Amino acid sequence: PEPTWAVLPPRCIEERYKAVCGAARTRSVLSLGLACFKQLPEKVRNTYLCQVYNLTLLCTEDYVVEPQSVQFLVQHGFDFNKQYSQGIPYHKGNDKGNESQSRSVRTLFLELIRAKKPLILHNGLIDLVFLYQCFYAHLPESLGTFTADLSEMFPAGIYDTKYASEFETRFVASYLEYAYKKCKRENCKLRDSSGQHLTVEFCSYPAHMSRYIDYRYCSLEEERHGAAGGNNVPVCEKFSAYGWCPKGVKCPHSHNIDLIIDEDDKLWEKRKKRKHRWRHRKNTKVVVTTFQQESSGENMEQAQNGEEGPPRKQSCFEPAAATELAEMAPNGEGSDQVERKSKVPAGLGSASHPGGTHRAGFDAFMTGYIMAYVWMLKQGKNTDAGAGPWLPDCHNKLYLSGKSVPLQIVKSSFSKSSKAHSEKIKLAWDSA
Ligand SMILES: [Zn+2]
Repeated sequence: PEPTWAVLPPRCIEERYKAVCGAARTRSVLSLGLACFKQLPEKVRNTYLCQVYNLTLLCTEDYVVEPQSVQFLVQHGFDFNKQYSQGIPYHKGNDKGNESQSRSVRTLFLELIRAKKPLILHNGLIDLVFLYQCFYAHLPESLGTFTADLSEMFPAGIYDTKYASEFETRFVASYLEYAYKKCKRENCKLRDSSGQHLTVEFCSYPAHMSRYIDYRYCSLEEERHGAAGGNNVPVCEKFSAYGWCPKGVKCPHSHNIDLIIDEDDKLWEKRKKRKHRWRHRKNTKVVVTTFQQESSGENMEQAQNGEEGPPRKQSCFEPAAATELAEMAPNGEGSDQVERKSKVPAGLGSASHPGGTHRAGFDAFMTGYIMAYVWMLKQGKNTDAGAGPWLPDCHNKLYLSGKSVPLQIVKSSFSKSSKAHSEKIKLAWDSA
């Protein structure tokens, strides 16, 4: 059944907001990834120029660090020496005097607002709360005020690619790296069959800038980490389902996303051949998550162990709503939150990439790529982009884990925007 957006239970979401706010007030952002995508109209359709930034930051105020988180980050290549010696300083909360002239991360964030472009995140609630608290202003007490502020800060809309890829594609999982690699694969197929496809170009930088640039192999072609041959390690079911496994690097099973997608594709083909009639996964997801909310753990077990039906891997194992913050914990390598959030000390690494660690910038790139791909699919042959939102069904909707309904970024008639925000945004527009 189609979820009814209007019946979002506000209480528990409000609680979740408060918990994330607590984290944002006491923790700090270690690095910030930003990827800007610009459509190149003179090139073939769906060609973008992409520029990626990976900023290492240093909060100038006291903040909480968990030893475990730091350990995890060090193990995954985060350079604390670099952070403390070269990190860009910033302070949290409200502006201290007129800061709009200075060159700082806060000014950069203000520039993003002034640009009036759509903002794209992946599983973005925690991101937005941290961005607001660390680079904008003190967080409002209520969620309604927070969303009212956001709707004014980003009038072109906020998109969540976790929500968009669940809503618009039929991928069986939606964690960042899975969605990205799956989009890339599908895009390859489109290109090979001469369909319209996505092309991304990158800037070429002069040699003297090379020490600031961290290249990462990123072609349209598949990178096959030898996934197909020789490797008989079975995939880890948990990791496969939601990009997270409690065993982390010690897991005896494979966390290789290419291998995981191979398996999913094989399963899909097999089912297609058997002409097995089965409901689309998307529908099942809605059914199962609704079920999760309403029933006890026992029923969940039954749902998970059911024999028939499509692979419901994600909905089976997806952490329930309350674990949102637990996902920020240090050892959850690769969970959507942990994998890519560089803002809490639990941020950077993922061992799923041997020989490399996640960078906030690359995560931002993957997020933008997913959005560009989904948008291309939705546009189809319709060249009239029009003035409306890109994906009306996903416009201003944030993914909520464990929920079948999204959080809507709106200014409702019940909530006013915050004072700090109103003053700040006025200054931003005036000086734009
Ligand atoms: Zn595992």
